Parts: sequence; C-alpha cells; structure tokens
Amino acid sequence: MGRRGITAVAASALLALTLLASVQVPAVQAFSADTHYYLTYCLCRSCGFSAEQSRIIASADLSVDGGGTDTGFLYLLNNPLWHGLSVPPLNDLREGCLWDRALARAAPQSPAGSDAGLIAFGQFLHLQQDRHAHESYFLAPVWGHFYDGYMTDWLAFRPGSSRAMAEESLSYIAAFASIYGLSNSTEVSLDLLIGGLISANPSPSFWSTSSSAAASGVVESYLGESVPAPMVFAFSHQGEVVPPSRYPPIPLFSYLQLLYEQFLLWHALW
Ligand SMILES: [Zn+2]
Repeated sequence: MGRRGITAVAASALLALTLLASVQVPAVQAFSADTHYYLTYCLCRSCGFSAEQSRIIASADLSVDGGGTDTGFLYLLNNPLWHGLSVPPLNDLREGCLWDRALARAAPQSPAGSDAGLIAFGQFLHLQQDRHAHESYFLAPVWGHFYDGYMTDWLAFRPGSSRAMAEESLSYIAAFASIYGLSNSTEVSLDLLIGGLISANPSPSFWSTSSSAAASGVVESYLGESVPAPMVFAFSHQGEVVPPSRYPPIPLFSYLQLLYEQFLLWHALW
C-alpha cells in the first residue's frame, strides 16, 4: 500500500471514530423515581433507617440513572454493570459483587452523611430493582429496551413483577438494616404500598416516565410523615461519588470530556 493509501485508511479510520464518538447514545431509563426513590425510601424507613439514612440510600439508588454511570459510549458497558441489562448469570454475579461492596463499606457507627456504605447499598438496590424490568430483553446491553420505550419502567406495566421486585428489595433492606443494628418491627404492607403506587401512575406510557409527585403523595400518606426531596449524586463510571461539576455547562468542553472518556477510560471498567 502506498503512502496515499495509508493516509486514506488513517483518514477513514479517524472519520469513523469521530462519527462513533459523536453518537450520543441516550441514557437508558430504568424504573422511575417512584421505584428508585419513593418506594426505596419508604421501605428503608419501614426497616428502621432514619429519615436521613433513608434519603441517602434512596438518592444513591435514583442517581445511578443520572450522570456518570449512564453517559456516552460508556452506556454500552454500564448498562450491564449498573442497570441489570445482561443475561441472568452475569447479573447474578454483578448483584453479588455490588452487595459485597456495600457490606464492605457499611459503617453503622458513622454519621449518615459520611457513610459510604449507604450510597453503595443504594447503588446495589438500583441494579436489583432494574433487573426485574430489564433482564428479559433481547440484546439488552446494546439497545436496552427501546422497543417498549419507557413502559417497562412503570410499576403498572407488570404489576406481578413489580411486587416481586419490591419484596426482594425489602428483604435486602431488612438484611442491611440488621447490620446497622436496626430492628425490623414494622410490618410492611407491600400490597397496599405497590397498589397505591400503581394507582397513582396507572397508565404506562411509551414516551414518558411516571409522576414523582403522585408517588410521593402515596408514600407520605403510607408513612404518615413528609418525605424529603431526593439529593443528586454524580457518580464516576465505576460508581464513586464525584463532584457534580464534572460536566460544566460549556458545550465544547463537555464534548471534549466525553470524547476523552469514550476513548481513554473505557478500559478502566471493572
Ligand atoms: Zn437504571
């Protein structure tokens, strides 16, 4: 191949890479805030966690769908890792890994705000909950569940599966609460809670997610107390908390940062 040929190949490769990088793969959605925040918050409160602890766990759960763990090209790798979009045996492995990670970080004596275990546990719950909505989709790591749109992420889409998801979350939350020395004396009425959340958002939509305000009302009346708004955590693709200013609102800078992540950091995944 002549020098010109090599230059042409190099130019084509560069063009292809640039095009690939410019594809802004949309973040995959998961169960909406009614599940990841309000249901999780309610179950944590019912298992004895304080309002502050519950808020941290549920906010970390919800924030997995935010920046960091679902951006850019990393989306293709992070879908299986954080959103249950893999085959069951791999999701099992991942679930076990995130559970062990939360246990290793649990610090029952720490003040809630400095307890990394609560955040890691929230991230674990995100995967555990997403599995129920995502696991059965063909080639899910590649394109998520686009042919069902947002519908699969509504509690009302498959009520039986939603109840099973909540029951499993509850058993993990009770187990984590016992590590914190909390007693699980409150009987949780899952039928009432899930039924209420489904009635608050009864019609799954292809195009939009369920209403957080409606879900919040259900949980407030269930608990008989007000529910704080979620906090927003920004995570790296490895799930560590990073400063929220990582993507400053300067389009060119954000774009260059995305390119950097896509080409140089993808191999750093575990
Ligand atoms: Zn998710």
